[in-house]
Amino acid sequence: MSYKVVPIPSEIARGVRETMRAPQYQHPAFADVAKGYGPCRQCLKTFVRDADERILFTYNSFENLSPLPLPGPVFIHKNECRAYDGDGFPPDLVALPLLFEGFGRDSELLIREPVEKDAIDAQLARIFASAGVRYVNIRNAEAGCFVARVDRA
Ligand SMILES: [Zn+2]
Repeated sequence: MSYKVVPIPSEIARGVRETMRAPQYQHPAFADVAKGYGPCRQCLKTFVRDADERILFTYNSFENLSPLPLPGPVFIHKNECRAYDGDGFPPDLVALPLLFEGFGRDSELLIREPVEKDAIDAQLARIFASAGVRYVNIRNAEAGCFVARVDRA
């Protein structure tokens, strides 16, 4: 595999569960029962609606990547879960409406395109072969929220 899907850092997830505040902002976090599919930004699995408990908090997906932050709302499971560490694309994400966004230096947006669910590996290989692309963000194509980052393997 030529890429690695990277969930939010485990210390961020641990911090918000322990303090119920967004670790990067200190804004209060919010917990309730899942009303949507999520997904959880740590394990990258979709929520079981009306069953899984989730925490909503503000997350800057550009920390350590760009001097310009990009804060936005994300969900994680309220209870500890295992950070995604698989090869390839997380199975639970394939069916979701998603965008790939390829970023260059200083988080300049270079490429944005809908995820081609039948050709994800080839699509990511092509995006990473584009001039200047340093990493790719996965975003929800409807809600707009950050889902996960993709790095070259
Ligand atoms: Zn989870």
